Amino acid sequence: MNSMNAAVVHSFTDDLVVEELPIPAPGPFEALVKVQFSGVCHTDLHAAHGDWPVKPTLPFVPGHEGVGTVVEIGDQVTRLAVGDTVGNAWLWSACGECEYCQTGWETLCPDQVNGGYSVNGSFGTHMLVDSRYAPIIPEHVDLSAVGPILCAGVTVYKGLKVTDTQPGQWVLISGIGGLGHIAVQYAVAMGRRVVAIDVDDSKLELAEQHGAEVTVNAATVDNPAAEILERTGGGVHGALVTAVNAHAFPQAVASLRRGGTVSLVGLPPEEFPLDIFTTVLFGLTIRGSIVGTRKDMAEALDFYVRGLIHPTYTVRTLPEINDIFTEMGKGDINGRVVLDLN
Ligand code: NAD
Ligand code: ZN
Ligand code: ZN
Repeated sequence: MNSMNAAVVHSFTDDLVVEELPIPAPGPFEALVKVQFSGVCHTDLHAAHGDWPVKPTLPFVPGHEGVGTVVEIGDQVTRLAVGDTVGNAWLWSACGECEYCQTGWETLCPDQVNGGYSVNGSFGTHMLVDSRYAPIIPEHVDLSAVGPILCAGVTVYKGLKVTDTQPGQWVLISGIGGLGHIAVQYAVAMGRRVVAIDVDDSKLELAEQHGAEVTVNAATVDNPAAEILERTGGGVHGALVTAVNAHAFPQAVASLRRGGTVSLVGLPPEEFPLDIFTTVLFGLTIRGSIVGTRKDMAEALDFYVRGLIHPTYTVRTLPEINDIFTEMGKGDINGRVVLDLN
């Protein structure tokens, strides 16, 4: 058996095709992994549609929340062994030598390789990982549930860190999808008080179940930011925007308390207006945040292992991928979808 099954993007306008591919051989520092589960991130949908300025080279296999078992290793591999449980990630590898890699900002490395984007990902029965960067999955965890930690978890954990908020302070989580419903849980575990905003009441209910104290439906409330300022006694100290809609971004900025920070992680291919006067006078910080480092990943996994994070997810199969993407585009997914590749 030298072939594997994978969902392949051949064009940015057509459906993915589930087809047979040759099983790749691991390079010197790489490991071949038999994939068991993979989360489906909205980034995979952006990738398949070619939404962003830097597009993946066609054809490619998306997926960067894969978990599985190492079945073969390259001759330079020391960190992993056959039989280990590992994952892939968006930060598939980095150069290790540039000023960003040297200063703890490997997520900004200009030579990074991205899982399911510039290298084939986890929407298949097998995948390659770089042994130096692959997240090691702790023992005794539920492999179907841990996938969403590998992108959604680490991204919101790091994004919350860089809001520079303190325990007891308010954070706004905008967009309660795959990332957002997990963000509510990290925020609560980190001692923050949570405001959740979405355009769908069922997502807001999910946020409440996970400990959001204030919820606002941006589709039905006239002025969501004014509502948030009132209900938090002056605005949130930090905000994390995961929504895939440009309107959510200025709304989050307008919900900030003076001196507040908004951390942008959602990636709709759009722009948003920023009021210079308010940003300056209120001393606001607007920053982007992209996934997390290997250390952030280990910390994010540790929160999960300690039982503080419970992803809501539905297990589905690879041939359903085009239906899953359609539902995701419409905002119809509750939490995450996890593909079963066993
Ligand atoms: P998702 O589709 O699961 O969730 C998006 C959520 O946004 C949905 O709940 C939807 O109802 C909500 N939403 C839509 N319009 C809204 C509005 N106007 N106001 C508030 N909420 C609104 O997507 P996901 O997998 O959570 O990914 C979210 C985004 O984050 C994507 O753009 C993805 O590419 C990006 N992302 C970024 C990083 C990073 O490192 N920066 C990492 C992973 C994903
Ligand atoms: Zn992702
Ligand atoms: Zn680098």
